[in-house]
Amino acid sequence: MNSVDTDKYSLPVRYGPEMRVLVVGGGIAGLTFTALLQQRGFKPTLVERIPEYGSVGYVIVLWPSGSRILKGLGVYRDLLDVGLQFTTYNVSDEQGQMLHSYSVKSVTEKYGPMLSTYRPDLIDVIKKAVDPGSIRMNTTVEKIDQTNDEVYVTFSDGTEETYDLVVGCDGVRSKTRNMVFGDVPLSHSGMNGWSFWVKPSIAKTLQIAEYWGTGKFFGVWPTKGRLSVFTSIRNDARELDPVESRIDRIQENFKNFGGIVPEILEGLDDPNEIFHGHYNDLIMKKWHKGRVVLVGDAAHAILPTAGGGVSMAMESAAVLADELSRADSKYIEQSFESYMTRRRSRVAKIQTQSRMMGKYVFTNNRFVSSARDFLMRFYSNKFHIRYWDTMLKEPI
Ligand SMILES: Cc1cc2nc3c(=O)[nH]c(=O)nc-3n(C[C@H](O)[C@H](O)[C@H](O)COP(=O)(O)OP(=O)(O)OC[C@H]3O[C@@H](n4cnc5c(N)ncnc54)[C@H](O)[C@@H]3O)c2cc1C
Repeated sequence: MNSVDTDKYSLPVRYGPEMRVLVVGGGIAGLTFTALLQQRGFKPTLVERIPEYGSVGYVIVLWPSGSRILKGLGVYRDLLDVGLQFTTYNVSDEQGQMLHSYSVKSVTEKYGPMLSTYRPDLIDVIKKAVDPGSIRMNTTVEKIDQTNDEVYVTFSDGTEETYDLVVGCDGVRSKTRNMVFGDVPLSHSGMNGWSFWVKPSIAKTLQIAEYWGTGKFFGVWPTKGRLSVFTSIRNDARELDPVESRIDRIQENFKNFGGIVPEILEGLDDPNEIFHGHYNDLIMKKWHKGRVVLVGDAAHAILPTAGGGVSMAMESAAVLADELSRADSKYIEQSFESYMTRRRSRVAKIQTQSRMMGKYVFTNNRFVSSARDFLMRFYSNKFHIRYWDTMLKEPI
């Protein structure tokens, strides 16, 4: 079925928190959404595929528009404890010559701090706002069938349950999306890269340091007590990245880079501690079908080049929770539409920005990258901050 025909709805109507809600995926969006529903009196169930939360992940930067959601959940102080506020970021060319140092102070003074956190720390913080009894770890969804009235779900442990709605928060390769919407292709940006932690003995910086080369990017991102690296190279082929030769490949790609890059590269010793990924995003016309709706990367994955994907996932979770708080089981599709209407253009803006950044910052055209480096010297703080200011003042 494609949509719910409300005339055919034949069950007693459930209002707001009475609705039976299943959340698939307990990452950033799923946990935020579950906590917000519980705060409103709902009793959702959350299923998470992994057996337990681990230590996988690097640095995540949260905009004030995302982190402020945690104020309402009573865990913002915990976030301040684990996060690092940054005020400056420095852009250099590949030799390490500073092109521009940008201050984000005028934005943070107005809207609140930009915080970098270690992803598992952020998960722990949000989890504090979620009733642990509502989370089923080591569980996924095997089958989803829906009628006009309900959704029937079969879980990986063989159990079956009936819901008024299912919310897919299961990330960029969402199985929920695949089961309900079919195969929706991701858009490959032509970029891939590695993320890893910098050895603690190596040079420290408390500010973000980016090195822009031709078709190559090397970013050093601090969080509390440590530094992580995020790199990118432009390479349209979706090459594999065998672990055994991973370090050689990173060192080869960035061998001409200056600044603190050589010292960081020399310190690489364990390829298993280095994550490799291809950078994709996802633009879907519709984020809901019948009684199933998608949130976060499952609906609108964003390239890492604009650094706002996590905040967008949290904002979307907050807007859907808000819409559901005044919805009912009969007219559920209307609340999904309102959710999309409130979110679509904002998400599209950042997707466009991150694609544009990818094109110019990661260009592999030497002429364009030289022109970029020259122009960066004149690209003032005021211009640079305007994008964030516009995004942060927009109502959500
Ligand atoms: C382990 C991990 C590490 C990451 N590290 C970084 C990082 O260092 N830097 C960065 O910028 N971004 C990172 N990301 C991505 C970033 O967290 C997301 O882009 C962003 O937070 C959007 O949130 P999301 O909740 O939509 O997706 P995610 O945060 O990706 O959460 C999806 C959740 O769904 C679960 N899941 C997936 N499939 C199923 C299924 N079939 N059934 C049940 N559960 C399922 C996953 O285990 C995960 O917990 C990471 C994601 C993951 C999963």
